[in-house]
Amino acid sequence: MKKLMVLIVSLAAVASLTACGSSHCKECDKEVYKDGYCEYHYAINVAQDVVGDAADDLLNSLMGG
Ligand SMILES: [Zn+2]
Repeated sequence: MKKLMVLIVSLAAVASLTACGSSHCKECDKEVYKDGYCEYHYAINVAQDVVGDAADDLLNSLMGG
């Protein structure tokens, strides 16, 4: 019986997280602009997709890696 309770609580938690994610940005509390992100984080997301490996290289060099 306990396993069932855990399952139900887990599902409820996931459901509430999903509901929450649709109302505000995944990265902050701002209103969603697109794809679950606010305008700012969506732009960052798109930029990362576009720049890709170059951004990783830049980050690595900034981190001293
Ligand atoms: Zn955001």
